Amino acid sequence: MSKWTTGYINHITHWTPSLFSLTIMADIQPFIAGQFTQLSLEIDGQRIQRPYSFVNAPNQNTFEFYITTIEHGKLTPYLQQLQSGDQIQMTHQSTGYFTLNEVPDCETLWMVATGTGIAPYLSMLQQKTDLARFKQIVLIHAVRYRQDLCYLPLMQQLQRFYQGKLSIQTVISRESYPNSLYGRVPQLIANGLLEQTIGIPISAEQSHIMLCGNPAMVNDTISALKQRGLSKHLRRKPGHITSERYW
Ligand SMILES: Cc1cc2nc3c(=O)[nH]c(=O)nc-3n(C[C@H](O)[C@H](O)[C@H](O)COP(=O)(O)OP(=O)(O)OC[C@H]3O[C@@H](n4cnc5c(N)ncnc54)[C@H](O)[C@@H]3O)c2cc1C
Repeated sequence: MSKWTTGYINHITHWTPSLFSLTIMADIQPFIAGQFTQLSLEIDGQRIQRPYSFVNAPNQNTFEFYITTIEHGKLTPYLQQLQSGDQIQMTHQSTGYFTLNEVPDCETLWMVATGTGIAPYLSMLQQKTDLARFKQIVLIHAVRYRQDLCYLPLMQQLQRFYQGKLSIQTVISRESYPNSLYGRVPQLIANGLLEQTIGIPISAEQSHIMLCGNPAMVNDTISALKQRGLSKHLRRKPGHITSERYW
C-alpha cells in the first residue's frame, strides 16, 4: 500500500496573520492521541513533507491541525493558502511516542506547550480516555501574544468537562494579560510562580511533566526540572519528563 493518502481540505480557519487550523477529510489508519502524521504538497515539482500533530481525538472523523506559518518556510506558506476542497497528501499511517501510554502513573500530569505544541494535549483531552489514573491534570499554553491563544475557548470547555480535575493556565511572554502569567515557562518553574499560581506543587514523587513545542522551552524546562530532582523518562529507566521538540 502507498505511504500516501489523498485528503481534501474541509475547512481552514485563519486565527491570526500567521496561525491557522486546517481540517482534512482522508481515509487513514487509526492513530493514538498525541501522534503525528506527515502533510505534503507538491511545490514546483517537488514533494515537500513535514510532520504535524493531530488536534482532534482519534474518534473524530475529520482531522485537525494547528499550524504556524514560517516566513520563507518551505511548506507552511503554501498550506496557509489552501482552500476548502483542495487536495493534500497525508501519510496513511501515523506515528510517534508522545502518547499517554508512554506516561507512567502519577498524581499530577502536567501538559506544557508552546504555540502549536498544544495540539497533542487537545487530542488527548478530547479523547477523554486513559486519564482516570491521574488525580489532577494541568494544561499550560505558553505563547508570545494574547492573540495567539487561539484554542483558549476549547481549553475552557475541556476544563468545564473535567469538573475540577483539569487546571488550565496561559503564559504570555511579550505582553501582560489578565489571568495569564507573564514570562517564560522555565523561569516560572525556577522561581516557583507557576506552581504558586496553580496551587499544585511539582515534585519527583507526585508529578509527570510532558513538554511540547519550541526546543528552547523544552531544553530550558528540562534543566529547571532537573534542578528539582526530576529526570527524563525513558522506557528502560523510568523518570518524570516526556518531551517532543517541533524543530
Ligand atoms: C513531531 C512533530 C510534530 C509537529 N507538529 C506541528 C504542528 O502540529 N504544528 C506546527 O505548526 N508545526 C509542527 N511541527 C513543525 C513542522 O513539522 C514544520 O517544521 C513547520 O511547520 C515548518 O515547516 P516549513 O517547511 O514551513 O519550514 P522550514 O522551511 O522547514 O523551516 C523550519 C524552521 O521553522 C521554524 N519552526 C518550525 N516549526 C515551528 C513552529 N511550530 N513554531 C515556530 N517555528 C517553527 C524553526 O526555526 C525551523 O528551523 C512538528 C514537528 C515535529 C517534529
